[in-house]
Amino acid sequence: MAAKILYGKEFAARIKEDAKKEALAIKEKSGVMPGLAVVIVGNDPASTVYVRNKQKACDELGLYSVKVEMPETATKEELLAKIDELNSDKKVHGILVQLPLPKALKDAEDEVLNRIDPRKDVDGFHPVNVGKLSVGDATLTPCTPTGVIRMLELSDINMDGAHAVVIGRSNIVGKPMANLLLQKNATVTVCHSHTKNLADITRTADIIVAAVGRPRFVTADMVKPGATVIDVGINRISQGEGKKAKLIGDVDFDNVKEVAGAITPVPGGVGLLTIAMLMQNTVTAAKDQLGL
Ligand code: NDP
Repeated sequence: MAAKILYGKEFAARIKEDAKKEALAIKEKSGVMPGLAVVIVGNDPASTVYVRNKQKACDELGLYSVKVEMPETATKEELLAKIDELNSDKKVHGILVQLPLPKALKDAEDEVLNRIDPRKDVDGFHPVNVGKLSVGDATLTPCTPTGVIRMLELSDINMDGAHAVVIGRSNIVGKPMANLLLQKNATVTVCHSHTKNLADITRTADIIVAAVGRPRFVTADMVKPGATVIDVGINRISQGEGKKAKLIGDVDFDNVKEVAGAITPVPGGVGLLTIAMLMQNTVTAAKDQLGL
């Protein structure tokens, strides 16, 4: 039987709808609308699109939003000073620095992210929030894996006692994904490039989350019949000069959907949840800072 396709659009709409309601309730109680500041340094084309989409989402929900554009030549000190300014701006409850930073600032990435007030860290990347997540006491958790959890919940896919296999151990996706699944009482196995006999492990999974960054890496023979397969991967495949790159996931969708019980497509799956969760995190941060 072919798998149920989990389209990100409907889940993202639900998450944004809930965030909007919560934002309006905050405004009613405190007179303050939650606000997000997005800082972009330089003019990387992909980053420009991401930032535009984040602002669009803020507009859609009626959130206050600020876009801070800094030139490619900005120094670390200038960027840190800007973050300090946003940290003390009462209208701003969430701060996001769009990555990657230009080459000249690459080595300063950790210092820059760590300068954000943890209570405004809507990406959930600050060590304080990473630590809180690992002890099960986090308010702000990384958007992509948190969006995956919301999608599983909204789809009534059982995590309690399920064997979840996460392929990938990055700080952005794999590790927080594993922690969040653990908090949902899944039995979690984290795999990476040194893992031996990966297919033997994935074949025992009730839930597979692929965050590898390799096109069609998860094949049908790696999946237990009826398992849920979540594809976080976004791989840009060139279609030749002048043509728009094709986006494909880490899962061999066409074949895996014939075995899995539920599966997310790429595009149109997990990617849409990330911005929706960013909106929710901004609202959560505002609630926390306003003491509501
Ligand atoms: P990273 O490159 O940081 O991590 C990739 C992980 O995959 C690493 O842990 C690596 O292992 C593991 N890996 C690589 N090759 C293998 C292999 N052969 N077998 C098993 N594991 C392997 O990527 P990210 O976590 O940042 O992103 C993963 C994917 O998700 C990318 O395609 C990215 O574009 C996408 N993404 C999508 C988002 C969304 O909104 N949908 C948001 C963020 C990312 P090791 O640690 O040993 O090197």
